[in-house]
Formats: sequence, C-alpha cells, structure tokens
Amino acid sequence: MTQYDYDLVVIGAGSGGVRAARIAAGYGAKVAICEEFRIGGTCVIRGCVPKKLYVMASRFRDDFEDAAGFGWRVGEVEFDWKTLVSAKEGEISRLSGLYAQNLEKAGVEVIRARGVIASPNEVSFAGGKRVSTRYILVATGGAPVLRPEIPGLELAISSNEIFDLPELPRSLLVVGGGYIAVEFASVFARLGSKAHLSLRADLPLRGFDEDLRRRLDEGLVAAGIEIHRGALPVSLEKTASGLSATLQDGARLDVDAALLATGRAPLTQGLGLETAGVATKENGAIIVDAYSRSNIPSIYAVGDVTDRLNLTPVAIREGHAFADTVFGGKDVVVDHALTPTAVFTTPEIGTVGLTEAEAKAKYGRLNVFEASFRPMRATLSKRAEKVFMKILVDAASDLVVGVHILGPEAGEMAQLLAISLRLRARKADFDATMALHPTLAEELVTMRSPSRIVE
Ligand code: NDP
Repeated sequence: MTQYDYDLVVIGAGSGGVRAARIAAGYGAKVAICEEFRIGGTCVIRGCVPKKLYVMASRFRDDFEDAAGFGWRVGEVEFDWKTLVSAKEGEISRLSGLYAQNLEKAGVEVIRARGVIASPNEVSFAGGKRVSTRYILVATGGAPVLRPEIPGLELAISSNEIFDLPELPRSLLVVGGGYIAVEFASVFARLGSKAHLSLRADLPLRGFDEDLRRRLDEGLVAAGIEIHRGALPVSLEKTASGLSATLQDGARLDVDAALLATGRAPLTQGLGLETAGVATKENGAIIVDAYSRSNIPSIYAVGDVTDRLNLTPVAIREGHAFADTVFGGKDVVVDHALTPTAVFTTPEIGTVGLTEAEAKAKYGRLNVFEASFRPMRATLSKRAEKVFMKILVDAASDLVVGVHILGPEAGEMAQLLAISLRLRARKADFDATMALHPTLAEELVTMRSPSRIVE
C-alpha cells in the first residue's frame, strides 16, 4: 500500500475545514490543515460573528430611544466606533485562538501557509514544502466580487474592510441588495451614518418571499436608509472630503465610503485545481456529489467553495459529514432542505421552507395565514413597528411548507420552526400547540383562519 505523509490535508481553516479536520483526527486520521490568513475563516474573522456583534451594537440606539416609554431617562448618548472595533477584535482573536487550540487538542497539525494542490495526492505550501496525502479537502470558502465594473471601483471597499474602517463613516453608500448589503445598511444607519442603498432591482433580497421583501424595504426606509432602486453607481471619484458617486439615474452622492456587496465567488483561483484535473463550474465552484467528492476521487470540497448553500452551519455539516463518511465508516449525506436562514437587519428576517411563489408552483393550492401586529414593547415605546408572520400551508395535506417572519428575534424563531417543518408538522399541529403568553411567537400557533387562499 502507498504510504502518504498524511491521511488528510485540509486547505482552509474556516468553519467547514476546521470541523472536518477535527472530526477526521478524532477517528484516528493523521491530519494537517493549512491557512494563509487567520484561523476561523470568514464567519469568525469577517463574517457572521463580527457582523452580529455590530448588529447588536446598532440596536442599542432603539433600546435607548424605547427606554423613555418605560420610565427611563437615558440622557445624551454617544457612540464610539473605535471602542466597538477594538472589542470586536478582542472577541474574534479569542475565538480564532480557541479554534487553533481545539485543532491542536484534536491532534491536527496546523500549517500557517497557503496550500496549493500539486497533484491528486500532494499539496505544496508557500515556502516550498510539499507533502503527500491520501485525501485533500478544499475548504477555501469565497471572497467578495467587486462589481459593477465602473471607473473608480478601486475606491470602494468590500465586507472584508468594512469592520475595520478607521472612523465611523458619516455617510455610506452600500451597493447590492443581498444579505450583506441590507445588513450593513441597517447597521450603519443605526450607528449614526447616513446610509444609501443602491440596488439593481426594485426591492432587496431577491429570492426571499415577496411579502417579506416589501416589508423589509419599508423597515429600511423607516430607519432612514435612502434606497436607490434600479440605480447602480456608474462612477466613483475621490473628493476632498471622501467620495462622490454618480448613479445610473443621474443622482450624485457625497459619501465617506462605498461598500460593494454584490455577491461572493468561490475562492479557487491558483489552487492547483486544473493541475489535478478537478472539475469546476463557470464561477470557479468545485463540482461535488452528495458526499462532497469532486470528480477526482481523492479530492473533496465543502462549504462556500462548492457554492451549494453558502451558510456557515451548512459548511460545518458538510465538513462533519465528509469526515464521518471517509474516516468514520459511516454513510452521511447532508440534507440541505429546510435550512432556516436569518437576515440580521432591523427589523430582522427569519425564514424556513418555501416562499409563497415556490410553494404555489410546487403544491398548487395554498392556505396562507398571515398576522401583522404591534409588538408589546412598541405599546409603551410608541415605536411605529409591526411584526409580520406568514405561514404557508399545502391545502391538500395541511402540511406547513414555509414560515416567514419579520420582526424581533425572527432568526431565533426560524431556528425552532425548522424542527417542526422537518418533522413535517401540519397546520393542525401548530393549532394544537398551546400558546406561550405573552410572546411574539405565540402568534404562530393562534392564527386560525387563512387570510388568503392561493391557487
Ligand atoms: P447575495 O448573493 O445575497 O446578494 C448579491 C447581491 O448582489 C444581489 O442583490 C444581486 O442583485 C447583486 N448583484 C449581483 N451582481 C450584480 C451586478 N453585476 N451589479 C449589481 N448588483 C449585482 O450576496 P451577498 O454578497 O450579500 O452575500 C453572499 C452570501 O453570503 C449570501 O448568499 C449568503 O449565503 C451569505 N451570507 C449570509 C448571511 C446570513 O445568513 N445572515 C449574511 C451575509 C452573507 P440581484 O438581487 O438583482 O440579483
């Protein structure tokens, strides 16, 4: 039998790669993981974790304002950007350190260098070292794609840089209408920046349920975000005080910074995939089967680099399933269906299952249950705020096929609803579930008659 230096070399120490490496090592495999940047990947270093911390920071504005209605006199408040940036840095360094420690504890060798596939069973590292391995797992994630291609593009930043701006921008142009664009527009508007959102569509979050898109849009406008619909920038220029952006509709915006949040692409360039003969899609994503195996039997890939469902928990599951299958003697396939998702705007979105359009196409006749109500907190705070909930039910079987929520803690609710939908809950099961009063979520089990029947 051929002797390799390692059983597994993982390229990329983000969510998916780290999980796969630890679990494989736990099964007794000799594992190395290489990383050219910081251990933890996008989620820990410049994604989910710092983003959620900034979302929390931004929501204190509402808390201070709302407190008055409950009898608190808060007085003058002031936000200090540098304190937040440095506290965030402390937390992500702590997490990155924990990831490194856990890898070490599991017996995984950490190689702090860029790794490139040299052949189906070899990886070479910056500095010239080359090792042989039975399996290679590519878990390099993705990176922001800066577009549209306009003069002055180099003056813009991506989500990689936004967390560490030296100062809080007094004004910010966010380009794009996806998760990242709306989340940052929402955060910066609350932290005190004048936020502009420029998108090519009419509404943000293409692909989400239309009612949520519309209501989120209203929430963003209510937060003071100026939305430029169908009006992307055509140029960016440097000015004495910052940047000047010209939009397709002729508007000129003077801003301190411009954030391009127009999608991400798999990070596969220069990885040696061609050398090894690994098949990729047009956008560079590695093509894999249900076991995350590429067309080259010794090379696997998990997470955003495969461009399946680009979410951290999905990458973690894929990494775990890979290790279980290849080193644990189990046969584990990740089920991507009914993956809940949240958009951490304010108001927040939480959703699981099909949108109304998808459900209609799949099931034909739907009972649509909807509730729109003022959250209890707003009764005293007097904030003009509505929670929206929508349950989509297949009329023929009573199966709940999608739930969409806009409002406080929508993400937390979506996580738990995902269990019900996985268990194939019927609307009758929701109805039979006792309400927990007073909560926002109780509304999900007290909607009795459909507001609409769709066919
Ligand atoms: P998304 O894919 O969510 O959105 C990309 C946006 O860019 C869309 O609004 C799209 O417009 C727009 N766009 C694409 N091409 C162009 C172009 N040429 N010109 C102008 N606009 C363009 O990407 P994000 O970058 O926001 O996020 C990347 C991924 O990261 C997400 O898919 C998500 O999986 C993950 N993520 C998840 C989060 C969460 O779970 N809360 C948070 C942040 C990221 P259009 O709608 O018109 O197509």
